[in-house]
Amino acid sequence: MPFYEYRCADCLSQFELLRSITQRDTSAECPDCGSAQSSRMISLPMAFSMAADGTVKAMAGSSPCGGCVATSCAGCPK
Ligand SMILES: [Zn+2]
Repeated sequence: MPFYEYRCADCLSQFELLRSITQRDTSAECPDCGSAQSSRMISLPMAFSMAADGTVKAMAGSSPCGGCVATSCAGCPK
C-alpha cells in the first residue's frame, strides 16, 4: 500500500498514512489531536498534470495569428 499525505483541518499538522487506494480520499484521524477533519494533500503527479494543461493552453494562445485565416499577417487585425 502507498503512503498518502494528509493535513488536519483543526490543528494543521501534516501526517502520512499507509492506506489502500480505495481509502485515500476518505478522511483520516489526526495523530496529534484525534480530529477526523483531515484532507489528502495534492500529490505531485496531479500537480504535473495541471501544469501540463496550462502549458497546452498557453501554447494555443501564443501565436499572434491563432484565430486568423489569412495566409500572411499583412491583413491580420491583431
Ligand atoms: Zn489535528
